[in-house]
Amino acid sequence: MDLVADIAAAITHLFYPHICLGCGSDKIGQDSSLCWYCLHELPATGFADQQDNPAEKILWGRLSVEAVHAGFFLNRDSLMEQLLYQLKYKHQKNLGEQLGMLLGAQLKESGRFRADALVPVPLHPKKLRQRGFNQASAICTGVARQLDIPIIENVLIRKNFNRSQTRLGRIGRWENSRSLFGIAHPHRLWNKRILLIDDVLTTGATLESCGQVLAEIPDLKLSIATLCLSSL
Ligand SMILES: [Zn+2]
Repeated sequence: MDLVADIAAAITHLFYPHICLGCGSDKIGQDSSLCWYCLHELPATGFADQQDNPAEKILWGRLSVEAVHAGFFLNRDSLMEQLLYQLKYKHQKNLGEQLGMLLGAQLKESGRFRADALVPVPLHPKKLRQRGFNQASAICTGVARQLDIPIIENVLIRKNFNRSQTRLGRIGRWENSRSLFGIAHPHRLWNKRILLIDDVLTTGATLESCGQVLAEIPDLKLSIATLCLSSL
């Protein structure tokens, strides 16, 4: 029976090889999307314990936020850039969850991020249909496993599809993204400590926009964590 199972597994591997999404190696755990080598190659920022860290400084004066963390540096032509591409465009949801668990472990260890619930930055429904899942939600699932707190979706919602946003500069982006988000069923977040989760922190425009609408909810305390801090 074991032999039959082994042969079945070998045939499955032949047609659907389970390989590392970073380097293509097949020396990889069954539940992992990355090999040991790639896991240790990821450039952790070490920001979780640091007050006034570079991720926090990006949002200074723009949002009332208790703490900000970005887990890894995102550089051009890097392993992390390749992994984000796999996550967003190759439907690698499990990879997102695994990366989320790495982020969650950093948050858990620091103790600066006590939250009642996680909220992922939502994707527009049109993009959600194209992509099949929200990469921020996949990351959130991994973080939730580590912190053992619930994820609250469909309260922070995305309102408009904005095609031109990537062509605008920083100020233009802010003005344009202001109206992107809204709140439904605000009572679900009343009087809660919320940890807002996204994949990448670049200019902070998206997180600022989310934070502004969340700030309208009474007695909500906000912290933010993203998987990456972009230098692109
Ligand atoms: Zn690898």
